[in-house]
Amino acid sequence: MMGPAHSLSGAAAWLGVGAAAAAAGHPMPWPVLVCGALICAGAALAPDLDHKSATISRAFGPLSRTLCEVVDSISHAVYKATKMRGDSNRSGGHRTLTHTWVWAVLVGGGMSLLAMQGGRWAVLGILFVHMVLAIEGLLWRAARVSSDVLVWLLGAASAWILAGILDQPGNGASWLFTEPGQQYLWLGLPIVLGALVHDIGDALTVSGCPVLWPIPIGRKRWYPVGPPKAMRFKAGSWVELKVLMPIFMVLGGIGGLGALGYI
Ligand SMILES: [Zn+2]
Repeated sequence: MMGPAHSLSGAAAWLGVGAAAAAAGHPMPWPVLVCGALICAGAALAPDLDHKSATISRAFGPLSRTLCEVVDSISHAVYKATKMRGDSNRSGGHRTLTHTWVWAVLVGGGMSLLAMQGGRWAVLGILFVHMVLAIEGLLWRAARVSSDVLVWLLGAASAWILAGILDQPGNGASWLFTEPGQQYLWLGLPIVLGALVHDIGDALTVSGCPVLWPIPIGRKRWYPVGPPKAMRFKAGSWVELKVLMPIFMVLGGIGGLGALGYI
């Protein structure tokens, strides 16, 4: 899928988690619902850090371009090192390591640790990166024609405001994880979820997604998971724009209402 569909599905997924959490007796304070949905929308773009023309690889200038090259090389190396006889030869790392559940859990877990241990600046940093991505993903064309600097300023401002709101007592810094010292541990959850939702979105497209790596399926460790071929669509096709995106919006709306206790 393309950026906007990935981001929308990420936001909708977090709103759905909000509804499920409310039903399970852990309702999210509204700042957790809103921040989580935006973080998840941003994180749903992150696995494409292995592709140089992806939104995330352009979003932070030379910094993200360099990181993209490093991630692409590492992914390709891991692919070559772990491929089995059934896996094909590939020339680059796109849709390999960063498109697996292992990557999702490692990145989300790392961010949780960082948020918990790193204090206010770590939380601000995580929020900033994901707000910039959420703006790029959700506003798409509007963000593309404006300058990068403008998007960064908007990301920094929203990160600052949201961090201030979350920090107020009762606003959710210790949602779900309530022991002392576990503040902001939940920040990794929308990041894991965003990456997984991205992988599911890619699995629906023609090429599939090796999300289960390193669990071997048949003679392939990088088995491209997906529905039967007839149910797959091309990235950026009308199915994505005219069917899936409206569905994500409706589901997200229902999830949000459920999370806030209206339904
Ligand atoms: Zn992808």
